[in-house]
Amino acid sequence: MRPTLPPCAMAPAMYQDEILLSPPSRRDVTAQQWRDYQGKKAAAHRRCAGCSVLDDCLYRAVVEVDVSGFLACTSEADRRAMRRELGIEVRIDSGTYGTARVGGGPVDHSEVMGARRAHPDETCRELAERLGCSTSTVKRHLRQEREGLVESSVATATQKPTMEQVLDAFDRLDTSRSV
Ligand code: SF4
Repeated sequence: MRPTLPPCAMAPAMYQDEILLSPPSRRDVTAQQWRDYQGKKAAAHRRCAGCSVLDDCLYRAVVEVDVSGFLACTSEADRRAMRRELGIEVRIDSGTYGTARVGGGPVDHSEVMGARRAHPDETCRELAERLGCSTSTVKRHLRQEREGLVESSVATATQKPTMEQVLDAFDRLDTSRSV
């Protein structure tokens, strides 16, 4: 019997929507654009909230790998806030080549850099098509690499938080209740 796919794999376009990958600031958009963003975020939030692997997905995205975009009921900003509260930083294994992706979940930094190393002559658009993400996501990861933002976050906590600590940090987010 085929395993059940997580909701993000069943609706990849929802998670790859540009507005979820690069959330706007409230002051930079119209009221209608803000409502559109909130609506799309709430829809993805509801899907994640009903996902059978939510806890594991959240733990991995907060503690083990720096992933871009919305997943596990959290934005990148939410996960940064959780890491600050937990006192951890995420190791980014920049030596890893991109692994096969399942469904439409967001790409992480190592996937983008792996694709760049494997296909150095491709444009950002071609890399984005290869990875199944947006061009701006590829550009953002390449910029972070250039500016050394990734290197500054290489250090990790020597002791990983427990699942319970991560879930407690999640419960303290305002957005954990925004469905
Ligand atoms: S919790 Fe994770 S695996 Fe489940 S739908 Fe959300 S992003 Fe996908």
